[in-house]
Amino acid sequence: MTTELSRGSLDARHARLARVRTRMEEAGVDVLLLSHGADLPWLSGYEAMPLERLTLLVVPVSGEPVLVVPRLEAPRVPGADSLFALRPWSDDVDPLDLVVDLVADASSGRFALSDRAWATTALALQRRLPEASWIEASTVTSPIRAVKDAAELDALRAASAAADRVAEVLQAGGIPLVGRTEAEVSADLGRMLVAEGHSAVNFAIVGSGPNAASPHHEPAGRVIGRGETVVCDFGGTLSLDGDVGYCSDITRTVVTGEPPDEVGRCYEVLQSAQGAAVASARAGVTAASVDAVARDAIADAGYGHLFVHRTGHGIGIEEHEDPYIVVGNDEVLVPGHAFSVEPGIYEPGRFGMRLEDIVVIGADGRPEPLNTVDHGLVVVDH
Ligand code: ZN
Ligand code: ZN
Ligand code: ZN
Repeated sequence: MTTELSRGSLDARHARLARVRTRMEEAGVDVLLLSHGADLPWLSGYEAMPLERLTLLVVPVSGEPVLVVPRLEAPRVPGADSLFALRPWSDDVDPLDLVVDLVADASSGRFALSDRAWATTALALQRRLPEASWIEASTVTSPIRAVKDAAELDALRAASAAADRVAEVLQAGGIPLVGRTEAEVSADLGRMLVAEGHSAVNFAIVGSGPNAASPHHEPAGRVIGRGETVVCDFGGTLSLDGDVGYCSDITRTVVTGEPPDEVGRCYEVLQSAQGAAVASARAGVTAASVDAVARDAIADAGYGHLFVHRTGHGIGIEEHEDPYIVVGNDEVLVPGHAFSVEPGIYEPGRFGMRLEDIVVIGADGRPEPLNTVDHGLVVVDH
């Protein structure tokens, strides 16, 4: 974290704050309280460590936001004077006294509190503000966070491009598979994500043979053999210009040697379903309709019962956020929405496959896939 937010980062924060306040008014929210979680860095540029001491950005619907922060953490808060005031607290005071003071005018009002705040924080606030009513901060923030601004899209593009470079090495046979354990291959993927610019590895799933049929398989000691599908699903966090990091998330399935006919046939179905779902993701359609395109294509080929999860999830500072590409989500897609499209087919005990890209709805309303590395079932012979 830099000591000062760049001009661009600060401007983006002011624009986000304006949108947050508009939505607070619409939702009748008097005060937004942001503790741990992604809302805080998204709005302030400050990523709080999830420690027990109270960190709380107090955002009244009008008036200056104040960041209440433990004194020892204050040096890590990026300078952003025009955005919020800083109120460090020492261990000899009760930080809740500060908060109650700051919100005195709204003490019987409506408060929106971070979804990821500790329960201890939530319960203490409720005791100290008995007249207040409470809702989740996501009611205010998540529809705004789901629509990425230009700086966020740049960060997502950079993260996806870095993940693509790792996938390219995997597909070119640059990571030996046969005779090695899933855990070893997973560690290689993680190291390469960092080498390509990620600051953290969030996960590197490697599921081989029958393990590939478990979508979130935990890579372990299984030794990868010949003629097996290997599902590799990996992602990390990458930051640009010292600002808050954004996530990558890609899945490619490779096969160690010529695949059995059934696997090849299945993969053709998967690839065309995923491609059709990506192409269908346009401004004006619902999230559920994108899920239906992938699901119907797989069901029409007779594999519907083997596609056991939703088609995708939004992505940003968090790996999973709104909008979810899932049955029942009637949210209409708009330019700036960013999400995964990742159908899979899983034959229990035998094999599995998944194909995942991150897709953004472009300013022209059309899908912009951020992952462009080969979508086929690539044969790796070692
Ligand atoms: Zn997943
Ligand atoms: Zn993934
Ligand atoms: Zn994903």
